[in-house]
Amino acid sequence: MAVELPDLPYRKDALAPVISANTLEFHYGKHHRTYVDNLNKLVVGTDLEGAALEAIIQTTAGDAAKAGIFNNAAQAWNHSFYWRCLKPGGGGIPAGTVGAKIRDSWGSYEKFVEELKTAGATQFGSGWAWLVLEDGQLKITKTANADLPLAHRQKALLTIDVWEHAYYLDYQNRRPDYLAAVIERLINWDYVNSLLA
Ligand code: MN
Repeated sequence: MAVELPDLPYRKDALAPVISANTLEFHYGKHHRTYVDNLNKLVVGTDLEGAALEAIIQTTAGDAAKAGIFNNAAQAWNHSFYWRCLKPGGGGIPAGTVGAKIRDSWGSYEKFVEELKTAGATQFGSGWAWLVLEDGQLKITKTANADLPLAHRQKALLTIDVWEHAYYLDYQNRRPDYLAAVIERLINWDYVNSLLA
């Protein structure tokens, strides 16, 4: 069975004005779809055909000969995860387990936000900012291009896409403004908490 493009968990206009319907038309409808389609073409007739997405990622991570498969598989996973990390009316100070763990790890929500924004703003070129769980500890990280926590023995808890295609139609070169708006208004903390349960 081929890897499928999952439905968006909301309508394409649901994240506006932070992320416009126009951005989601291209970002989900073109970019994400293309990663899934390319992955399925690349694995046809190989021993990875029919494998689960996470298995494809773990099998190909670090293998230069399989970089094309890894990049498309990781981007397929990253985007499905990113959509679930957002919701209309989200963002702000989280409650629940993640709220408590953020206070334990950073002292305050404000310090956490500052570090998350810095990670996203300082990722040179294309990539992702992440909140991950590593050896039981919360950490903020950033990765380049398609790279992801699963390839580094970390559990992903939250991501923000900082490829230009994620924000350029709405924010042009103002990546920090996109990061601030997503963090303040879109993060689906209920989903993050469900990953810690
Ligand atoms: Mn993207």
